[in-house]
Amino acid sequence: MTAHPDRIATVACQFCSTLNRVALDRLEQGPKCGSCSRPILFDRPLRVGDETFQQVLAGTDIPVLVDFYADWCGPCKIMAPVLDTLARDRMGQVLVLKLDTDRNPVTPNEFGIRGIPTMILFQHGREAARETGAVPGPQLDAMIDGALRQ
Ligand SMILES: [Zn+2]
Repeated sequence: MTAHPDRIATVACQFCSTLNRVALDRLEQGPKCGSCSRPILFDRPLRVGDETFQQVLAGTDIPVLVDFYADWCGPCKIMAPVLDTLARDRMGQVLVLKLDTDRNPVTPNEFGIRGIPTMILFQHGREAARETGAVPGPQLDAMIDGALRQ
């Protein structure tokens, strides 16, 4: 063990779905997928699905915010730019993921999601906080900051 081990995020390539382990302290070098060589862009929410969710959560050292959404959901569309901004502002500190609840019913069921959008913050692999419904950016920021202080 070194004094400052690399912080890692495990994410699925948005093009070929291969899981990649990415060193968060070297994001400025522009991480690329080990399989298809296309870029993995951390300045925006990354899609995740039932088949990869547990591996992503277990393989990521920083807090993970998951947006459970669906394409037909109006309030989810309102939240989309808020989450885009959050992902950009907290790049390397919070991993922001989007999970389409229509295509991926298992994970929302596991976490008792009853309404969308629901945003759940995970820390050390466990739920630390959640918000349901469209909420303003500052409210989401406050939820994250509050959970991270504990
Ligand atoms: Zn790839």
